[in-house]
Amino acid sequence: MSAAETLDRIAHEVSACTKCALHESRKKAVTGEGPADAEIMFIGEAPGFHENEQGRPFVGAAGKFFEQLLEQAGLTRSEVFITNVVKCRPPANRDPQPEELQNCNQYLEDQIHSINPSIIVTLGRISMGRYFPGAKITSVHGQMQNIDGRFIIPMYHPAAALHQPALRPSILADFGKLPDQLNEARAVLGRKVIEKRKNVVSQKPETPQQLSLF
Ligand code: URA
Ligand code: SF4
Repeated sequence: MSAAETLDRIAHEVSACTKCALHESRKKAVTGEGPADAEIMFIGEAPGFHENEQGRPFVGAAGKFFEQLLEQAGLTRSEVFITNVVKCRPPANRDPQPEELQNCNQYLEDQIHSINPSIIVTLGRISMGRYFPGAKITSVHGQMQNIDGRFIIPMYHPAAALHQPALRPSILADFGKLPDQLNEARAVLGRKVIEKRKNVVSQKPETPQQLSLF
């Protein structure tokens, strides 16, 4: 089965999944989206209100900011794979519970296995916990680590940075480092190293005016 076929199979299964209680309030499942051969995979937490309506990840306010962060890394949405640790919206956006994470885990495992990205970026505390159990995001954010042969970078969740302006410079700087980290990972994995892309961070310093947009 090709990676694209596997991703289709997963999306089909997720849309009818009843393995945890989150299916009860599901409007649309959010399996994830992006190319089957994406080099970078982003793993967020869970669908929120807008994601549940549309069946797509990161389409609300946090999604808008996430797209700006991608721009800082010289990336666009269409070239990365974006998903979450749970595929159905928790009621009132509460944290996903351990048994929900466990029940949903196989879908994410299969997505990672079929896409086989050079880098996985975890967004927020809960998805960081998959790879760095017990770590403090304030000390490890932005640092790439090789975990069992995969390069993982834990980052702050875009929604957290939206609500806590003090985190904005850190998350912007972390995304600005992604192109270099990607090349580092490519070199170790024997994949093609691509010439450095424009680093938007250094060209567009933040102004108070830009900050006030959020
Ligand atoms: N927050 C997430 O973690 N994931 C989404 O898809 C949207 C908001
Ligand atoms: Fe199934 Fe995951 Fe949705 Fe739970 S959150 S019902 S395990 S797809």
